[in-house]
Amino acid sequence: MSNVILKTSDGGTTTLASEVLAVFRGQLRGALCLPGEPGYDLARTIWNGMIDRRPAAIVRAAGAADVMRAVAFAREHRLLLAIRGGGHNIAGNAVCEGGLMVDLSPMKSVRIDPKSRTARVEPGVTLGEFDREAQAFGLATPTGINSTTGVAGLTLGGGFGWISRKHGLTIDNLLSVDVVTANGKLVHASEKEDADLFWAVRGGGGNFGVATSFEFRLHPVGPEVLAGLIVHPFNKAKELLEGYRRAVAGAPDELTCWVVMRKAPPLPFLPKEVHGKEVLIFALCFAGDLEKGRKAIAPIQALGKPIADVVGPSPFVGWQTAFDPLLTPGARNYWKSHDFVELNDGAIKVMLDHVERLPSPDCEVFIGNLGGAVSRVPAQATAYPHRDVQFVMNVHTRWSDAANDKGCIAWARQLFDAMTPHATGGVYVNFMPEEEAQRVSQGAYGPNYQRLSKLKARYDPDNLFRMNQNIVPAT
Ligand SMILES: Cc1cc2nc3c(=O)[nH]c(=O)nc-3n(C[C@H](O)[C@H](O)[C@H](O)COP(=O)(O)OP(=O)(O)OC[C@H]3O[C@@H](n4cnc5c(N)ncnc54)[C@H](O)[C@@H]3O)c2cc1C
Repeated sequence: MSNVILKTSDGGTTTLASEVLAVFRGQLRGALCLPGEPGYDLARTIWNGMIDRRPAAIVRAAGAADVMRAVAFAREHRLLLAIRGGGHNIAGNAVCEGGLMVDLSPMKSVRIDPKSRTARVEPGVTLGEFDREAQAFGLATPTGINSTTGVAGLTLGGGFGWISRKHGLTIDNLLSVDVVTANGKLVHASEKEDADLFWAVRGGGGNFGVATSFEFRLHPVGPEVLAGLIVHPFNKAKELLEGYRRAVAGAPDELTCWVVMRKAPPLPFLPKEVHGKEVLIFALCFAGDLEKGRKAIAPIQALGKPIADVVGPSPFVGWQTAFDPLLTPGARNYWKSHDFVELNDGAIKVMLDHVERLPSPDCEVFIGNLGGAVSRVPAQATAYPHRDVQFVMNVHTRWSDAANDKGCIAWARQLFDAMTPHATGGVYVNFMPEEEAQRVSQGAYGPNYQRLSKLKARYDPDNLFRMNQNIVPAT
C-alpha cells in the first residue's frame, strides 16, 4: 500500500502514510477498500447513474464498531466524510469525491419480534428486505414505494408510502435509534433517552451522526391488500385529476391513491397501440378489509373510461415492488419536488401542459397523496415539519444518454418553476437534488430549522456530517 491523498472537509487535501492506513485497516472488522480493490466499485456505485464519484477510501462497515472507528478516523484527520445507506438518494451525497466514504450496505440484520410487534433493523437493509422479514409475521411499518430504497436514508428524512395515511410516516413508527455522533461515540436515542437527538434524526437526515440500528413499531398489514393500477388515456387527464382530488378528499385512511403521468410502458395488460403514448395512471392500495376496500375504491374506479383496471387482491410484499421495473438503478435521473395543500386548477393545467412534452420515454410526473395519520402529528413533534401537506409532486426526469442531460434537466426545472405559485414552498428533504442547498432552511425545515441548527451545533459543531442536505451549525 502506498501513501494516499484524501480530501479534507475544508476543501484541502491531506496525505496519509501507508502505515497509518494499514493500522486503520487492521482496526476494522469490515473491509477498507482503496481504488481498484475488490468491493470499491460496488460500494461507490449508487442508484442515480449521474453520480460517478471516486472516494479515496471506502470503509465497508460490518457493525457499529467499524462506524465508530471510521467516524473517529475521519475526525482525527479532518477528512471529507460521506455516509451510504441504501445508495438511493437522488442528490448522490452517499459518495464523496476524494474523501472517506462509509458504506453501511453490508449491515443487513433485521430482527422481528412478533410478540412486541417491533423490529430492529440495520442501516444497510433495503425496504424489500425489511418487508420480507416483517411480512413473514403479517406485520409491516410504513416505508416507500420502491423496494430497493434503503431503510436508513428514507427513515432519517421522514419516509412515506402506501400505508402512511393509515400508520403515519416511517419516523412516526421509529421507537429508538443508535447513532454514532461526531465524537465517535454511540448514543441510544428515544423519547426517553437523548430526546433532542431523537427529535432531530426524525427528519433531519444524516446531519447528526451515523445511525447504526433502528427500532420500529410494526402493524398487522395484509398479507393481502387491495391494490393495482387503473390506466387512462391522457386526453381525459384534466377531468380525471379534478375527480381524483374530490375522491381522495373523502377517502378513508386505509386508502392511498397516487397518480403517475408518463408514456405508457409496455405492460402486458395494455393494448400494443397504447405503448409509448401518454397515459394517466391511478396507483392505489387499500390496506384493510378487502370488502371495505372494494367500496372505498369505487369513487376512483368510477372516474372516466379506463384503458385497463387491474386492481385486485395482491400480497403486500408484491405490491411494495410494483414500481421496481420502472425505477431500476443505473439510469440518469434528476428530480424536482413541490409540496401542496391542494391541487388547484392552475397546478393541474401546468402539469398537463408539461406532460404533453415529456423529454424522454422514462420521464414521469408523480403525485403522492398524504394526509390521514401523517397530518395528525404536530409540525414541531419531529424535525419533519410538513404535516399539513396533502399532495407531493415529484418530477422524475429519467433518461439514458448523457447527450440528453441538458434538455431533460431544463424540462424538469421549467415544470418546477411553473408550479411554484401553486405550491406551499415546502419540500420533502429526501426528494431534493444536489443543488438545492438554498431550500434546506425554509423549504425542507421551515419552523424547525432554528432548533435543528442549534442541535447541529451541539452534536456536530465542526459539521463533520456535511455530505447531506446540510443543516449549518448555529454560531
Ligand atoms: C426510485 C426511488 C423511489 C423513492 N420512493 C420513495 C418513497 O416512496 N417514499 C419516500 O419517503 N422516499 C422515497 N425515495 C427517497 C428516499 O427516501 C431517499 O432517496 C433516501 O435518502 C434513500 O435512502 P438510502 O439509504 O437508500 O440512500 P443513501 O443515498 O444511501 O443515503 C442518503 C443520505 O442519507 C444519509 N444516510 C444514509 N444512511 C445513513 C445512516 N445510517 N446514518 C446517517 N446518515 C445516513 C446520508 O447523508 C446519505 O447521503 C425514493 C427514492 C428513489 C430513488
